[in-house]
Amino acid sequence: MIDISLQQDQFEVVPTLVQPTLVEVLKSRVKADLAREAQLPLIHTLPIEHMLQAHLDTLDPESEDAEAENAFYVADLGEVYRQHLRWKALLPRIEPFFAMKCNPDPMVMRLLASLGTGFDCASKNEILSVLEMGVDPSRIIYANPCKQNSFVKYAYNNNVRMMTFDNAEELHKIKRFHPNAQLVLRILTDDSKSLCKLGLKFGAPLNTTGFLLATAQELGLDVIGVSFHVGSGCFDANAFGEAVIRARRVFDQAKDYGFDFKFLDVGGGFPSAHVTEGITFEKVAAILGSTVDALFGPEVRVIAEPGRYYVGSAFTLATQVIARRTISRDPAELMSMEQNENPTHMYYINDGMYGSFNCIMFDHQICEPKVLLKDGGFTYQQPLISEPHGLASVWGPTCDSIDCISSKARLPLMETGDWFYFENMGAYTITAASQFNGFRKSEILYTTTEQNVSLHF
Ligand SMILES: *Cc1c(COP(=O)(O)O)cnc(C)c1O
Repeated sequence: MIDISLQQDQFEVVPTLVQPTLVEVLKSRVKADLAREAQLPLIHTLPIEHMLQAHLDTLDPESEDAEAENAFYVADLGEVYRQHLRWKALLPRIEPFFAMKCNPDPMVMRLLASLGTGFDCASKNEILSVLEMGVDPSRIIYANPCKQNSFVKYAYNNNVRMMTFDNAEELHKIKRFHPNAQLVLRILTDDSKSLCKLGLKFGAPLNTTGFLLATAQELGLDVIGVSFHVGSGCFDANAFGEAVIRARRVFDQAKDYGFDFKFLDVGGGFPSAHVTEGITFEKVAAILGSTVDALFGPEVRVIAEPGRYYVGSAFTLATQVIARRTISRDPAELMSMEQNENPTHMYYINDGMYGSFNCIMFDHQICEPKVLLKDGGFTYQQPLISEPHGLASVWGPTCDSIDCISSKARLPLMETGDWFYFENMGAYTITAASQFNGFRKSEILYTTTEQNVSLHF
């Protein structure tokens, strides 16, 4: 007898036989969606502020329950929904394919799947998790120009046809493992106006596209269009317009090789909702939308691969001060404290660079601690103006000195047990968090500040 501790109705047949086949039986017979359904976390309908407060209220400082005082996220699915509506309003022609590497949160994924977005996947597991939600394979673009053989076979076996390439070797690989793929030529664009310069790694320079198209033609492969990525965290809206112009050149060039392109993928790089100065989504949409319309007729299908755009502003992280160190100073230094711009305290919190704050290293983010709970008082979005502030540094919990979240933050004096919060922590945070030094990834509590979201679950 094998206890698989899943409910019976999640199976067509409950496997009771030989152990070695159990895995296969489970794989083929679990209705993945049902199984997941049973495990869906609760979605609240409270404002973020109340979510944070409600969770902090459950904490008992005398308790030995270490889990209770862990850092945690509040995810607002309503914000993801609003971003979707905003996209539809400002870029109605361009179909969003969510770049799931940015935050593959199962609830965000389900919401977007139900809203009808496509998905940009880069690996077998990413494709698998999208298919498991019941999303049709035609709503997936395998947007990794350099794929592992077995993953290409997997895409073939699961009818995922759209995929990108930027080199000739990849074409030979695809010929071998997925000869009827719908190929999208990823071209190199100017990514110098972006925080994360993806052009270092991917994208065919325009002086190679002729050769690549000729190779595809010889191999009898179907190239349907062009993709690009201006770089993640792009801070110049013109980069999108210039990239579309380049794509147009490759569309024209493709005719010489017998291709009639009908597909344009304008990639990711769209700013998150909290970006209200400099490059905003409105500015990008205005330039991108009009350039696309000017250069591409209605017969061309246009998609994009936004990641950060959808989730950046939807997640708030709360962390506890687990320790504080007062930096000792000699009296002379203290005398000149006014001019002294060195931190006087070091705060250690329970999530760090190896966890959610990996975005500081990998995504060039600046994370600003704000006071959430101090002396038992809840201070979400209420700056403590009346209290004296000093300079402090804020550190993660691991034993590595790279684990620094802020080297100079102006903060009131905090005690161990007080809490900070960090806004706009939805993009490239939890997705790349590790368990280094035995620290767990922060848990996520869900809410929606848009009633309509409940219709989608
Ligand atoms: C990372 C990535 C994206 C998403 O980029 P954002 O800046 O988060 O929008 C889209 N497409 C590809 C191919 C990527 O690698």
